[in-house]
Amino acid sequence: MTGITSTRLSDGRELIYFDDAGTSTSRAGHLTTDHRGLPPRGEPGEVRFDALTDEWVAVAAHRQARTHLPPADQCPICPTTPGNASEIPAAEYDVVVFENRFPSLGPALGPVPEHAAWGTKGPAYGRCEVVSFTPEHTGSFSGLGAERSRTVIEAWSQRTAALSAMEGIKQVFPFENRGADIGVTLHHPHGQIYAYPYVTPRAGVLGAAARKYYDATDGRDTLTGSLLRAEREDGSRMVMEGTHFSAYVPFAARWPLEIHLVPHRRVPDLAALGGEEKDELAQVYLDLLKRVDALYPTPTPYISAWHQAPLDDVLRPAGYLHLQLTSPRRAADKLKYLAGSEAAMGAFINDTTPESVAERLRSVAVPPSSTPVAAMAATPEGASA
Ligand SMILES: [Zn+2]
Repeated sequence: MTGITSTRLSDGRELIYFDDAGTSTSRAGHLTTDHRGLPPRGEPGEVRFDALTDEWVAVAAHRQARTHLPPADQCPICPTTPGNASEIPAAEYDVVVFENRFPSLGPALGPVPEHAAWGTKGPAYGRCEVVSFTPEHTGSFSGLGAERSRTVIEAWSQRTAALSAMEGIKQVFPFENRGADIGVTLHHPHGQIYAYPYVTPRAGVLGAAARKYYDATDGRDTLTGSLLRAEREDGSRMVMEGTHFSAYVPFAARWPLEIHLVPHRRVPDLAALGGEEKDELAQVYLDLLKRVDALYPTPTPYISAWHQAPLDDVLRPAGYLHLQLTSPRRAADKLKYLAGSEAAMGAFINDTTPESVAERLRSVAVPPSSTPVAAMAATPEGASA
C-alpha cells in the first residue's frame, strides 16, 4: 500500500507525501516542519464570463510573479537541503502533492455565479496542485520505475477523490506539460492537477458528444467504449493492448503525435480504478512514454491530459476516463504551431497520418522497463487484436 501522509506548509497550504509501497518506515511520526514563515495566501483571482462563447476565462495576473526556470540548486520541488528551503520540507520523499503557491484557481472554494451574462465575474474558486513525480531534479516520467509510476497513479487517484468532494468543484484534471516548448516553468519532473469550479470548454464539447451517444443507445453504451472497440477491431492505429488498458492513435487525430490510452472497463475517473488496473496502468503508461521518447533523439514535448467525467449530473453518466497524450512535434526539428485555422477557427489540419504514427510507435525500439510488462504485448505491425 502507498503510504499517504498529509501536512501543512507555513502558509497553510496542504502538502501530501505519497510513499512507495515498498517504503517500510512510516512518515507520520517524524514529519519535518516548514520553517520558512511564508506570507499569508492571497485572495483568488477572478473568473469572467465570455458571453460570446458561453465559457469562463480565469484572469490570474498575480501569477506573473511565479517562479520561472530557477537554477537547479534553488529548485522549489527538490527535497529541502541546508542551502535550499524548498516547498517540500523533507530531506527525502518519493512522490509529493501540494497546493500551488501561485494558483490560477483558489485557494478559496465556491461556485461560479449563476445566470452569467456579459459583465458577470466572480472569484476564481478552485484548487491547483503540483505533483512532484520524483525527488530527482533531472529526468522524465518515462525514467521512473514501475513502482514509482504506481505511486504517482495512486496520488492521482487519491487526489481525484479528494478534490471531487470539495465545494463547488465540477471537473478534476490531472496533467503533465513536458518540455520548455510547451511552456514548462520548472525542469524538475512534475505534473499538475486543476480542480475547476466549472466544466471546461473542451470537456463540455466531449461531454455533449458522449451524452448524445449515451442517450441514443438508451444508456447501454458509451461513446468512448464504442471507439475503443472500433479501434481494436480495425487494428491499424493500435499502439498497444493490455488486459485492462489499450492505446491507439485516434482515427481523426488532430496533432502530429496523438495517443489515447483507454481502460477496457468503463470508469468515470482514476479514483474508480481497481488495484489490478492501476498496477497495469503503471507499466502501460511507462511503456507509452518510452515509445514517445524513442521516436526522436531529443526529448519530445508533450501534454499528457487525463479526461475524467465531469462532476455534472447530465454529463457524468456518459463520461469515461481516458488519457489524451498530444505533441506538436511533427519532425526531429519541427514543431507544429497553432496558427490561423487551428487557433482562430479550431479547425485542425494534421500533417501526419494517424496510421503511420501508430506504426512508428508500435515498431520503435523501447528500452526494457525495470519490471516486465506483464500480460501486455504491442500489437504486431498491421495486425488486429
Ligand atoms: Zn528539482
